[in-house]
Amino acid sequence: MAGWAGVAMTERLERWEADELGPAKVAFLRLDARVSAIVVIDNVALGPAIGGVRMRPDVTAGEVARLARAMTVKSALARLPHGGGKAGIAAPPTLGPADHERVMRAFGLAIEHLVDYIPGPDMGTSETSMAYVHDEIGRAVGLPAVLGGVPLDELGATGFGLAVCADVLSEAKVLDLCGARVAVQGFGAVGGHACRALAERGALIVAVSDIKGATANTDGLDVAALLAHKNASGGIAGFPGGITVPRDDVVTFDCDIFVPAAQPDVVTTDNAGKISARVILEGANIPITRQAEAELAERGVLCIPDVLANSGGVICAAAEYRGAGHGEAFTEIEEKIRDTAGELLDRVERTTLPPRAVAEQMALERLHEAMALRRRL
Ligand code: NAD
Repeated sequence: MAGWAGVAMTERLERWEADELGPAKVAFLRLDARVSAIVVIDNVALGPAIGGVRMRPDVTAGEVARLARAMTVKSALARLPHGGGKAGIAAPPTLGPADHERVMRAFGLAIEHLVDYIPGPDMGTSETSMAYVHDEIGRAVGLPAVLGGVPLDELGATGFGLAVCADVLSEAKVLDLCGARVAVQGFGAVGGHACRALAERGALIVAVSDIKGATANTDGLDVAALLAHKNASGGIAGFPGGITVPRDDVVTFDCDIFVPAAQPDVVTTDNAGKISARVILEGANIPITRQAEAELAERGVLCIPDVLANSGGVICAAAEYRGAGHGEAFTEIEEKIRDTAGELLDRVERTTLPPRAVAEQMALERLHEAMALRRRL
């Protein structure tokens, strides 16, 4: 780790406001002279907080706090017996495997006393990282299958959940999934499985991007061939079954459904007016700014918010924590997302509020009910 100057996360602490929900607890941890971490346990009224560990050199306390709040809302909306939390580890960008293991084990020991926080994988951490934490303190989700984990990215839990949302919209006649034209930004764990699951339901995947480029075919891309091309070449560039288009054109591509499954803030008020999709299924976290969501709602574009659309991952993690296997976890994803999406659609029809506000209202109702029964949060 030579050359790493170290970043004291407290020096870059962004301002954030505590409110009636949380945070319940914030811990700043120094794992060694050069690596610091923060854990935000936002709200535990419904149960111990599940949340990923993000390892990035520039992770900030404010970002971790916002993500922890998103987990509170997501878990409450899915009626999970869990609260929301998140952790960030500000580690050097080029940690080798031995240093990664050392940092993760140190992180595990440092959070041993934070019994209300159950860590899982996020950007920069993996199933293996969680195995090290679990080995130290017996508490983590997103474990390798050999340790009883349900490998949610490999199995496509979040992509499956997105497709279940699309099923509910199709059954409610909001859209006809069979033949619907879908554009997907990101072809990783979420985007790749979403493409597969939506194509299986008869949708046409007309455009897909990854970090390096994009491919399109108005007759529908062959998703299995595209996955094979990506596995062989490392990306979707040069896929012979589509034409190359500029990467960011996928966001405003002519389609019925847009699935952002890569980065935050890809739709802003700058490009919201150019969105042609009638439905957006938010696979990534906060892919659309609040102002852009409001603008899209006014134009009649239905945005199914991240807290519902991408909740397959946390539902799967909660099932794993309980000791459930793959089949049970996927049944639960289907049941929970169906219930919540159905209720959301009903409520959206009866109000002028955008779907995100309605989803937050649903989560808040559950949180308030639970908080009224708790003496200490
Ligand atoms: P991943 O790393 O497996 O895949 C990300 C994909 O996005 C890659 O194909 C990458 O090339 C692409 N990408 C990155 N920047 C891009 C850009 N500017 N334009 C186009 N493509 C770009 O990550 P993932 O697990 O699929 O997660 C994607 C998003 O979904 C993240 O925001 C993540 O926080 C969120 N999310 C993931 C899960 C999960 O279960 N994995 C659950 C909930 C939310």
